[in-house]
Formats: sequence, C-alpha cells, structure tokens
Amino acid sequence: MGVPVLGCDCAVCTSQDPRNHRLRTAALIQHAGTTILIDAGPDMRAQLLRHQVRHIDAVLLTHAHTDHIGGIDDLRPFTMRTGAPLPLYGDATTLRRVRHMFDYAFDPAPSLSTRPSLETRELEQRFAVGAISIEPFQVLHGAHPITGYRFGPLAYITDASALPDATMRRLRGLDTLVINALRYTPHPLHLTVDEALGIVAELRPRQAYFVHITHDLDHAAANRELPSYAQLAYDGQVIQVEGLEARA
Ligand SMILES: [Zn+2]
Ligand SMILES: [Zn+2]
Ligand SMILES: [Zn+2]
Repeated sequence: MGVPVLGCDCAVCTSQDPRNHRLRTAALIQHAGTTILIDAGPDMRAQLLRHQVRHIDAVLLTHAHTDHIGGIDDLRPFTMRTGAPLPLYGDATTLRRVRHMFDYAFDPAPSLSTRPSLETRELEQRFAVGAISIEPFQVLHGAHPITGYRFGPLAYITDASALPDATMRRLRGLDTLVINALRYTPHPLHLTVDEALGIVAELRPRQAYFVHITHDLDHAAANRELPSYAQLAYDGQVIQVEGLEARA
C-alpha cells in the first residue's frame, strides 16, 4: 500500500525519517550500459522521475498484483521516443493478466491516442537483456508460484511467503540477496522479518536487504535490532554488486 498508508497516523506513517517513506516495491538494475526495471507498480512514474531514468531496455515482472504492474501505462514516453516495443518478461499467468488489464496497448487497430508499445516475452530458463544475464526462479506467494530473478551474484525476491527447495538450491553462493520482509506478525502471503532472516541464515549471502515493508517497521529501530548482514532497504538506496557479469 506504500507508507504513509492513506489515513494512518501511526508513528512510522508520520515519521520525519525519509527512509520510512516507502513507495511500492520495485528495483532498477544497471550494468554495462543496460538498464532493467523490475516491476512497474503505480508509483513507477514518480520513482523513475526521482532517479532521472531516461531509458529502459526491458521490464521483468514478478507477478500480476496491481502494486507490481499498475504503472505499465506510464511506460508510454519511453516507447514513443524509441518507436521500438519494450520487452516485458514474466510467466504466462502474469503476461496474460497484463494483456487483459492493458488490452488497448495490444490492440493492432490504429488509434489516435498514444499507447505504450509493449512486447510480452515468456520467461526462459536463462536469457539475457543486453549485458545482463538473467535466471528466473519460482517462489511461493501464498498458494501461487511467482517469479524471482537471479543476476549472477545478485538475487531479487519480492512477495514470497516460502521458497521451494529447488529454488533454495539455485540461490547458493550469492553476494547480495534482496528479499521481502513485510512485518513482524505472520501474513498468509508474505514472509515476516523472522522468516526472511531464516532464509538468509540458510543461504548465507554476504549481504541481504529487506524490501516490501509495511508501516509496522520503523527503519532505524528495526535495523538496530537486525544483524548487519540483513538490513531493511530504503527507497532510492543504491547497491553496488561486484561481478554482475554473466555467470559461468
Ligand atoms: Zn501507519
Ligand atoms: Zn503480491
Ligand atoms: Zn506486492
């Protein structure tokens, strides 16, 4: 829902700490001239403006919940400028939902109104966008499998409630793990802070960052309690990852 939550007067929602202002969860991966956006939620336009992003090579979608795809129409200026369709990667369920929600963007009939020019591409086991090699993997979001992405030493997971064994095996040897940790109290669709810490303890990345956080967590207070190798991330945080090149 983002923080502040509409109409909420709690200490985190009214906090002056900018790290307690949380737009809907997304990430930008930049490496050797290639820029990839992960998820395109309703806050995407504000996020891209804030970080002066002028070009995107592809969008990777994790799943079709509105907080992750609701901003897709705002990709329009990018494709109007280049004239080329923007690749949207995701699993079959996600892409079906995108084509349904933004059906006008996929209508071949000519139109006087501007539309984003999008090309949906179903995930393969391993693929590349420009200089970045990508391995998608499945995590569970309640009963539904959704997609996480590994980029060599970096993995990005949002909206997981559990990681299947096969995925745990594919996430060994990470330098940096970005993973969701909603709050302290249990939720049927999202990992809690303790559950996320349990996964970090098993996978042992050099550093983990928690994302997709509610107003239950105050940034500074939560991070004081957390170990230095697993900390809450904040909007606009930039993380350098060594060796993002294609993995052998
Ligand atoms: Zn609140
Ligand atoms: Zn979700
Ligand atoms: Zn979400």
